[in-house]
Amino acid sequence: MTSVDFPKHKKAKALKPGSRRPAKELCSECGLCDTYYVHYVKEACAFINQQFETLELQSHGATRNLDNPDEVYFGVHQEMMAARKQQPIEGAQWTGIVSSIAIEMLNRGMVEGVVCVQNTKEDRFGPMPVIARTPEEVLAARVNKPTLSPNLSVLEQIEQSGMKRLLVIGVGCQIQALRAVEKQLGLEKLYVLGTPCVDNVTRAGLQKFLDTTSKSPDTVVYYEFMQDFRVHFKHEDGSTELVPFFGLNTKELKDVFAPSCMSCFDYVNSLADLVVGYMGAPFGWQWILVRNDTGKEMLDLVKDQIDTQPVMSQGDRKAAVQQSIPAYDKGVTLPMWAAKLMGVVIEKIGPKGLEYARFSIDSHFTRNYLYVKRQHPEKLEAHVPEFAKRIVGQYKLPE
Ligand code: FAD
Ligand code: SF4
Repeated sequence: MTSVDFPKHKKAKALKPGSRRPAKELCSECGLCDTYYVHYVKEACAFINQQFETLELQSHGATRNLDNPDEVYFGVHQEMMAARKQQPIEGAQWTGIVSSIAIEMLNRGMVEGVVCVQNTKEDRFGPMPVIARTPEEVLAARVNKPTLSPNLSVLEQIEQSGMKRLLVIGVGCQIQALRAVEKQLGLEKLYVLGTPCVDNVTRAGLQKFLDTTSKSPDTVVYYEFMQDFRVHFKHEDGSTELVPFFGLNTKELKDVFAPSCMSCFDYVNSLADLVVGYMGAPFGWQWILVRNDTGKEMLDLVKDQIDTQPVMSQGDRKAAVQQSIPAYDKGVTLPMWAAKLMGVVIEKIGPKGLEYARFSIDSHFTRNYLYVKRQHPEKLEAHVPEFAKRIVGQYKLPE
């Protein structure tokens, strides 16, 4: 490479750890600014320049069809299904479909490395992004690190290593920035495997959540906000603790979520090739969205390791969402007996499958819309995408 075509970004300098980021308090610590790709931050950052349409077109060859209700909610996709591994991976967040796909891609030589996040030696939830080159290193990254994680901080290593084929696993804000700099990475092929993401927290915020919600915060190895309207905590001794959503201490927890996550409208990871979550699937199953041909190629690798079934949808979320808006706004916490009762009733008659996913999207988008409107009114128009405005527009919001 001559000095003439030497990429300009290599002259940029990563920002110092702990220094204020260009997105200020909205920064989700995606890791981009920890590299010389900070050069592109004004265009690439999900919280400075929301650009779903441009990046959807670049990634999938199409933008969301706003006349198709499923695309308004779940983004561009060719196929949706529920799936679970026939032999779940021990210690994975769900059944380990994400880790299994990454392992297959390495084993078959489709990629030379996988960007994923392991944990630090001292802290099981402390995020440590790596480029995994072996199945063992991918397995060591299984299970959610339920904190903001600077996954893109390893991007400089990709160029330095000379890698040409790469898989990146990540959540929406990381993937938005990645897509914006994709062409600068010097790769022949990039695969993107995403998970949905919502209500993330800093490491300190996570501690506050565990301390306020679990009876034994220090022994929690895993948790998930499940489709049965309960938080499931798994402890070191293998026991499971269940806490109903409606019994959460909303007042205490109101400020626990990161400002980035309070202003995010990319719950479903719109720009990944393939998305693996759980919320659109029946309890115990994972939920898969194939967004494009690359995503299909990735899913096909594990077809013989998974059972699948069509997605289903049951119930009507609208009244429950409308009621949750002022309750959250005022920080109402129900007494535990009432929360448990409400949880049981809602589980029996409440939304299931895709309707549960819509329930969760509606509740979070209405909350986040109010947050942006109040905290960053100058950003409201450009930051909230059209699909989210349509979703929020179905509800009556307080001023
Ligand atoms: P595993 O095989 O256990 O692999 C998990 C992968 O996640 C690993 O490769 C790891 O690199 C990656 N990872 C872990 N932590 C992070 C992180 N902080 N940032 C980026 N990547 C990470 N799904 C829903 O349907 N609804 C939700 O509301 C929802 N919220 C989520 C919130 C967070 C913070 C995260 C990280 C995920 C969330 N998911 C959600 C996805 C879901 O919990 C599972 O991660 C997904 O179904 C994959 O399960 P698995 O067993 O296949 O993953
Ligand atoms: Fe930089 Fe990422 Fe923070 Fe935006 S979210 S300021 S790109 S580290």
